[in-house]
Order: sequence, then C-alpha cells, then structure tokens
Amino acid sequence: MADIPAGVTVVDHPLVRHKLGLARDIQTESAEFRRLLREIAMLLAYEATRDLPLQETRVQTPLAEATAAKLGDRQPCLVSILRAGTGFLDGMLDLMPSARVGHIGLYRDHDTLEAVEYYCKLPEDVAERRVIVVDPMLATGNTAVAAVDRIKRRGAKKITFVCLLTVPEGVEVFRAAHPDVPIVAAAMDDHLDERGYIIPGIGDAGDRLFGTK
Ligand code: URA
Repeated sequence: MADIPAGVTVVDHPLVRHKLGLARDIQTESAEFRRLLREIAMLLAYEATRDLPLQETRVQTPLAEATAAKLGDRQPCLVSILRAGTGFLDGMLDLMPSARVGHIGLYRDHDTLEAVEYYCKLPEDVAERRVIVVDPMLATGNTAVAAVDRIKRRGAKKITFVCLLTVPEGVEVFRAAHPDVPIVAAAMDDHLDERGYIIPGIGDAGDRLFGTK
C-alpha cells in the first residue's frame, strides 16, 4: 500500500479490508457489490462522524435515571456525487436516517477527464450543517474538487470527503484545492492509468453498482 498523505485517514479495519477484497473481485456480481459498498460505507461513516457534536440529555432506563448523549439538533448533510455516490449513500443513511441529502451530478469528460455538471440540488440550509460528501472513487480528483467547490459556494464550512478508494495523484489534486477537507477512505491504491482509472481499483464503480456493463 502507498504511504498515507496528511489529511487522509485510511480505515484499515479487518472488516473493511475483507469486504473491500470481495468488492475488488471481478467475479462479484452487482447485487453483492452493492451490498458490500453499503456495508463499507457504514463502517467508514463511523470514522467520518467521530467528531459530531453531542448534547447531553436525561433518560429513564427500566431501573434508574441516566445521563445519555444525543446528536445535535442539526443533523449532517450527506452529499452524493452521482451516479456512483448512490452506492455509498444508502449505507450512510442507514446510520444517520435523519441526515439531509444533497445530490451533485458530475460526469468525467472522457477526453479531458474534467468534471462537467448536469445536476445540483443541496438543502437550503447546507451552510449550517456538517457536510459529508460521498463518492466511492477519488481518482483524478477533478470531480471531487468540483463538488466541494459547489458546496463551499453555498456556504458550508465543515466538510469531509468519504470514498472507497483513492490514489496519491487524486489526493494531491484534492488537497491542493481543499486543504481543509479531510478524506476518509477504505484504501489508498497504487496509481491511475492513462484513462484515469484507479489501479488495482475495482473497475468502473457505477457500472458495477448498476450492472450497466
Ligand atoms: N471512477 C471509477 O468508477 N473507477 C475508477 O477507477 C476511477 C474513477
């Protein structure tokens, strides 16, 4: 595995590594791939949310009164980068069902590898929320940078980027543009190929999630 740059947390928990190994396997079919990504997203959410603010409250257990913690009133906003982000969103929502959800549609121009926007819908009060951006692949970094640009333009200040895989090239581009946005990933892979795919990677995340190829 490559060295881990500053600003990146690789969650190398045995369950994450096991599920990632299964997801990488070309023999793994779409339904199983989707399930694996959902489960990995849940495990990454655990790391990405460890600094969420809590409020103290009191509850009555069957035996006594107890002090208990609860999440602050304003739940985080999850922003999915379409279309592969959807594969991560569900796992995050399983853990944070009251989170708000935004979607940003960006595709990579196959020739330039630049991000082109076709959709953007964020909650009106995104500026007041903690934002977690999800996309399984942080590859060239162009799409991730473009998504976070748009979220910051709407006033959000505390943003975390969560992905399945990244590579040193992508992290460098992303961190140069957004040094204040930490990245949480399941693994740091080796490099990008000439088409901008992560090697060894998992192939095209969208195609594998939705069985489009
Ligand atoms: N997007 C993908 O789906 N796979 C890659 O390897 C890189 C970007």
